[in-house]
Amino acid sequence: MSLSAQSHSVPLSDGNSMPLMGIGTYGDPRTTPKGTAYEAVKLAIDVGYRHIDGALVYFNEHEVGQAIRDKIADGTVKREDIFYCGKLWCTYHTPEMVRPALEKTLKALQLDYVDLYIVELPIAFKPGDVFYPKDEDGKYIYADADLCATWAALEACKDAGLVKSLGVSNFNKRQLELILSKPGLKHKPVSNQVECHPYFTQPKLMEFCSLHDIVIVGYSPLGTSRDASWVNLKCPPLLEDELLVSIAKKYNKNSAQVSLRFNVQRGVAVIPKSFTSQRIKDNFQIFDFSLTSEEMKQIEGLNKNIRFVELLMWSDHPEYPFHDDY
Ligand code: NDP
Repeated sequence: MSLSAQSHSVPLSDGNSMPLMGIGTYGDPRTTPKGTAYEAVKLAIDVGYRHIDGALVYFNEHEVGQAIRDKIADGTVKREDIFYCGKLWCTYHTPEMVRPALEKTLKALQLDYVDLYIVELPIAFKPGDVFYPKDEDGKYIYADADLCATWAALEACKDAGLVKSLGVSNFNKRQLELILSKPGLKHKPVSNQVECHPYFTQPKLMEFCSLHDIVIVGYSPLGTSRDASWVNLKCPPLLEDELLVSIAKKYNKNSAQVSLRFNVQRGVAVIPKSFTSQRIKDNFQIFDFSLTSEEMKQIEGLNKNIRFVELLMWSDHPEYPFHDDY
């Protein structure tokens, strides 16, 4: 596959395509000043990013939408140049709630459709607009949703033209198989967004997904923000890895660019988050060098099979995805 800053999309199984390089937009809402995501996404579009990863639960989807609309209005891009991914949150898995949840996203963005809408996690919470429902003892309140019924409701959203492609996130092999073998399946998931970087390379899930034409989108591709409130800090900082630093030196790049190039070069989409101008620019500069097959193998060898994003607070949910090997 030839990759360039202007052309780096992968085909999706439904006939659409996805740029392999995207920008993540999750910033801690308690510490990120208002307007930060807006400025970041506008700059990202100026720099050349065309894939934007967001979610209702990030509390900044209105800023992201405004940035996209302003960049369309000033002529930098057309709507069809942009690939926006939104996410169905865990409190909206009940089939009747799926379309209204997507409509909340469209309203926040002030767009007519999203390019990709994904089930953010295979776990369902008590339905409603309280995103993190808890009982008096502080325990999360779960719900018995049926993933196939949620999927059928998503298929209806695609048929209604509110979304171009459907996907999932944090699904394990069993959960993907459940959807793929759903009776009367109309639209297959085109992608599975999961943690993926040189310390967590996902070889088994990648093989399974490639057999089923499911693109892997790698979240936390730089090893996360290392925010102790949700990140497993037993895993060492990815960007300080000696091998990545030494390969970066050879190409006059940095370890972040090498980590991103590694995934993109093997067909894994990446959505690094940055709200810092220079890093937004730097992270996109991965199309003017390539890694040798020996370097790709060496980086693959860094895999530690340890997650930065374990989501252990939900590990007692019956559909918690990470008990399985993959
Ligand atoms: P990333 O691996 O993208 O790392 C983001 C952190 O790295 C930020 O602290 C950022 O800081 C910093 N950073 C960015 N660029 C550089 C660089 N060149 N050098 C050094 N540090 C850098 O982690 P995320 O967990 O944010 O994942 C990316 C995106 O994936 C999210 O924003 C979200 O869109 C998505 N996501 C999806 C999940 C899911 O369950 N589906 C779960 C987690 C993430 P700064 O902003 O200051 O530059």
